[in-house]
Amino acid sequence: MSTNHPELSFEFFPPRSPKGFENLNEVRANLAKFGPTFFSVTYGAGGSTQDGTYDAVKSILHSGSQAAPHLTCVGASRDLIRDTVRSYLELEIKRIVVLRGDLPGGMVERGYFKFAEDLVRFIREEFGEDLHLEVAAYPDFHPESASPLTDLQYLKRKFEAGANSGITQYFYNADSYFAFIDEAHRMGISAPIVPGVMPITNFATLVRFSDTCGAELPRWIRARLEQYQYDEPSLKAFGLDVVTHLCFDLLDNGVPGLHFYSLNKTEPVSEICRRLGIEEQ
Ligand code: FAD
Repeated sequence: MSTNHPELSFEFFPPRSPKGFENLNEVRANLAKFGPTFFSVTYGAGGSTQDGTYDAVKSILHSGSQAAPHLTCVGASRDLIRDTVRSYLELEIKRIVVLRGDLPGGMVERGYFKFAEDLVRFIREEFGEDLHLEVAAYPDFHPESASPLTDLQYLKRKFEAGANSGITQYFYNADSYFAFIDEAHRMGISAPIVPGVMPITNFATLVRFSDTCGAELPRWIRARLEQYQYDEPSLKAFGLDVVTHLCFDLLDNGVPGLHFYSLNKTEPVSEICRRLGIEEQ
């Protein structure tokens, strides 16, 4: 990896309509110019988007790019997981993002797998060592965890169960990520943990999502976004500056790559990549 060619990955969610698929193809083609290592596609725990993940992954592969499906285990049976992983192996998938997931409101039955660690172990036992398994990591720590330390201990267990690398929840304070990585190293975690980067395009959505997933939105960013919430051009310009600055800070300090939550849009991710000087191929 060099600063001009960092390892990149872009995350999509599965489209729900033919038009959504058309849009995704276009976005994928636009972002493919930055030479990502893979595109990942989210998976709705217990929800209706699971076939959509498979279809999106298949279409990314057909376009010639690498794809990494996300796979959640909460509420899933062993048979379902086995069949799903098998269907991905038939597509010659090389990488899976392994997660616990959150049960949709109203569902209470957790099932066989309690934590992502259980799913990592199961995939290794059933399918061997070939697949590259990514797991989630939380610099601002996961909202359910008792403390940052226990959260890291559980992250360590995911690597001990066989995960190869991590992708973080988004954050806007680079120090939070670097303190997290330092602590992980002290605990003996040596696997690469790639920062997840969330572009800023909307005030209300970002506040709501950050409150739910436990990602901290620094007060100064929140206040500026609130000020610009009805002035889209100013909000987007501010968001681009903040996120580009964050990425420069991360790259200058030697992160193993950048994983962008693209929200199925070409912009602002491609503008951020251009500002970072990442050459289009
Ligand atoms: P885990 O690693 O199992 O951790 C969950 C909680 O349990 C944490 O608080 C942890 O500290 C604790 N814990 C872990 N192991 C133990 C243990 N043995 N004993 C006690 N406590 C334990 N969600 C989706 O539904 N679909 C997606 O596609 C998706 N993609 C994501 C991609 C990334 C990069 C990230 C960061 C998150 C993603 N999520 C997705 C959200 C994720 O499913 C939620 O954050 C979920 O609440 C936790 O998933 P996990 O894999 O981190 O769980």
